[in-house]
Amino acid sequence: MSGARKKTRIVVLGGGFAGIYAMRELERLFGGDPEVEVTLVNRDNFFVFTPMLHEVAASDLDLTHIVNPIRKLARHASFFNGEVLEIDLPGKAVVAAHGVEQEHRHRLEYDQLVLALGAVTNFFGIPGLAERAFTMKTLGDAIALRNRAIDSMEEADYECCPDVRRRMMTFVVAGGGFAGVETAAALHDFVHEALHHYPHLRPSDVRMVLVHPGKVILPELSEKLGLYAQRKLSARGLEIHLGTRVLGFTAAGVELSDGTTIPSANLVWTAGTSPNPLIAKLPCMLERGRIAVNQFLQVPDWPGVWSLGDCALVPDGRGGVYPPTAQHASRQGKTLARNIAAEIRGGRKQPFTFKTLGQLAAIGRRTGVANVLGMNFSGFVAWWLWRTIYLMKLPRFERKVRVGVDWTLDLLFTKDLVQCPTQRAMSVGAVEAEQPVVAERIAS
Ligand SMILES: Cc1cc2nc3c(=O)[nH]c(=O)nc-3n(C[C@H](O)[C@H](O)[C@H](O)COP(=O)(O)OP(=O)(O)OC[C@H]3O[C@@H](n4cnc5c(N)ncnc54)[C@H](O)[C@@H]3O)c2cc1C
Repeated sequence: MSGARKKTRIVVLGGGFAGIYAMRELERLFGGDPEVEVTLVNRDNFFVFTPMLHEVAASDLDLTHIVNPIRKLARHASFFNGEVLEIDLPGKAVVAAHGVEQEHRHRLEYDQLVLALGAVTNFFGIPGLAERAFTMKTLGDAIALRNRAIDSMEEADYECCPDVRRRMMTFVVAGGGFAGVETAAALHDFVHEALHHYPHLRPSDVRMVLVHPGKVILPELSEKLGLYAQRKLSARGLEIHLGTRVLGFTAAGVELSDGTTIPSANLVWTAGTSPNPLIAKLPCMLERGRIAVNQFLQVPDWPGVWSLGDCALVPDGRGGVYPPTAQHASRQGKTLARNIAAEIRGGRKQPFTFKTLGQLAAIGRRTGVANVLGMNFSGFVAWWLWRTIYLMKLPRFERKVRVGVDWTLDLLFTKDLVQCPTQRAMSVGAVEAEQPVVAERIAS
């Protein structure tokens, strides 16, 4: 239309910590500015607060209380719930699809593009992992693991063969970083607490194993705190295999680099991530598979393209790069949004600088380990800090209240053991089709 001013279109890809915080800051800066249009694209219609994911897997929290619907987080921005299929940097457009089979494709053109697609789990081609292992990255992962823990207890309670029962009740967690340690500790508490509802199961039937390639768990923290966590977890009966890697996962169990095989039907893999595969196809400069941005979070040689979070390699100005954590991704989101505003309205762009405020991990039974502002904390104080700080960080008052209520009820009642089935009710035709299978199973 002649005379009409063209809108500036900002497209944000990814609704994790990086994308959501960038979108919220863009909304704050541009408000309802009719000249600027912000669109966020994400596979799920919610934002997951990953630091609390293990609490969902271990039934401490209701399944949906740590996620926020993106539509409730976005006040002015548009939200496209779908899969990004293609990023066309020369054509300044993104192809995204939605629909059950992703059959409906859209071409979203942009003036400014924010790449915040995060990382994906990497199994490093280890045999059996992609087919059988559980992961801990998404809400679906946490729900699947919770279901498996409950299914294992239900089945093992009436399992006649002691070897099969023990295999079902052995849980191996690979990776001694935050995600692995918190998951192993929470799962250990959950299963042991649930045991008194399963009269045929004994504590000796349960085996919880943490496998870590390093010398001390929680390498993100100091050695002292890692050793403290090891002592606490070992004292509760959690086995820790240090200097060991998982080499394979078969029907016989989890094969380790020390030559042993742990007879187990349950492996949780938290030991590796790699950048989003869409990033690998981009014509921009990549380092270690991530987008090498400058200190302003711009992608060099591609004006109007920005990146941050786990899919970007952000220089720290001292020759190194910032670690891929939520606290960095969220702060990068704010800096990036301000730099986009400076680019559009004119102004000085700011380099991203941030000093890690602290690291915290919950290790079960109301204990934790933390390093906050350079000071080490352990035990109940660290656990209390973990809960207080993350509750404050969880977006939206409504979600804070829900999580707070869950934690309060947790003091009064035992953990929930309800499975979360996803299959639909059977129809008459489906029941008839199932009959011979059921008869066969009973006969065998
Ligand atoms: C279990 C666990 C616990 C953690 N605990 C902590 C902690 O305590 N403290 C801390 O600082 N950090 C923690 N982290 C790390 C932190 O979660 C990440 O650093 C952070 O999420 C990175 O944010 P991001 O936005 O870059 O990536 P992500 O959060 O991974 O977001 C990427 C988004 O892009 C979407 N996406 C990807 N591909 C597509 C596609 N093709 N189409 C559409 N959408 C797509 C994804 O669905 C996702 O929503 C933890 C991580 C995990 C897994």
